[in-house]
Amino acid sequence: MFNIQKCAIIGCGFVGASTAFALMQSGLFSEMVLIDINRKKAEGEAMDLMHGLPFLSPMQIYAGDYSDLRDAALIIITAGAGQKPGETRTDLVHRNAEIFASIIDQIVRYTRDAILLVVTNPVDVLTYITLKRSGYPQSRVIGSGTVLDTARLKHLVGRHLGVDSRNVHTFIIGEHGDSELPVWSSANVSGIDLDHFCDICATCGAHTSALQPLFEEVRDSAYHIIEAKGATYYAVALAVTRIAASIVRDEDSVLPVSTLADGHYGLSDVCLGLPAIVGRDGVREVLEIPLSTEEASNLQASAEKLKALIRDAGV
Ligand code: NAD
Repeated sequence: MFNIQKCAIIGCGFVGASTAFALMQSGLFSEMVLIDINRKKAEGEAMDLMHGLPFLSPMQIYAGDYSDLRDAALIIITAGAGQKPGETRTDLVHRNAEIFASIIDQIVRYTRDAILLVVTNPVDVLTYITLKRSGYPQSRVIGSGTVLDTARLKHLVGRHLGVDSRNVHTFIIGEHGDSELPVWSSANVSGIDLDHFCDICATCGAHTSALQPLFEEVRDSAYHIIEAKGATYYAVALAVTRIAASIVRDEDSVLPVSTLADGHYGLSDVCLGLPAIVGRDGVREVLEIPLSTEEASNLQASAEKLKALIRDAGV
């Protein structure tokens, strides 16, 4: 039996600690265990976080070990090496695949009931590795996918058009990385497709050719942030919190998480960011949204790239 109000974070670096900070403020959990190969780091983060509890709702936050996963509903994995300036996410594949093998073996010793949420990069390859190695059902192995990339795009499009980014509806799908793609063909602002947005609103520049540079900015944003400050962590922490909320509150929200393509979009045996309904049991359903011919072919290419990486990782 698991406790729906208990989560674990494995890896307490920039991303893990920021995620813990965001989650403690979300009120979603009453218990959070932090695990890191560097036990002192986990202890330091737990202490720092728990000193803020008098400002928030009560909860238990502590540094622990894998046996503490027994009753955790959600296990978030952020452990592993991060990108260095000039590195791509895929450069991390061998280092992080090895780290993941040992982490997953530890997890399954203690629980087969949790939902595993992979954040470490390259997130799609590591989600696939986690799925295969854990033996968990595909619905309960999720990667953060392109949830962050989609948020970045909504922010930039909203700012460009002068509208609230929450009214921008679009997805980035495919690899969380260089081969990802925006789905412009169904992008809209509160139901108004982008090509018509200019007709009814004083704002100009909603047509997709004007928006393409915004996508390029999203695709390359991790490089720019890493160049400027060494790592990216705040927005991804909020993306993870959004996914956690959909699970814990059984929201059935549509989020572009990384999940196994099982015939969807003509793809199989690869994990990548696809719009999916996410609820208490993980991915309830992958949605096949309409794609233009170019988008479908770009998604295919992204999946092929990921499959090659999976083969290269020796899975
Ligand atoms: P970091 O180096 O600050 O932290 C990594 C942590 O993992 C360290 O505390 C380290 O001690 C720990 N660790 C290493 N091996 C471990 C093991 N075997 N068991 C337990 N803990 C272990 O890195 P970061 O900046 O926090 O980034 C973490 C990962 O998140 C990277 O792979 C990064 O690329 C990825 N990331 C993903 C997204 C996304 O959208 N999916 C966004 C940003 C970063």
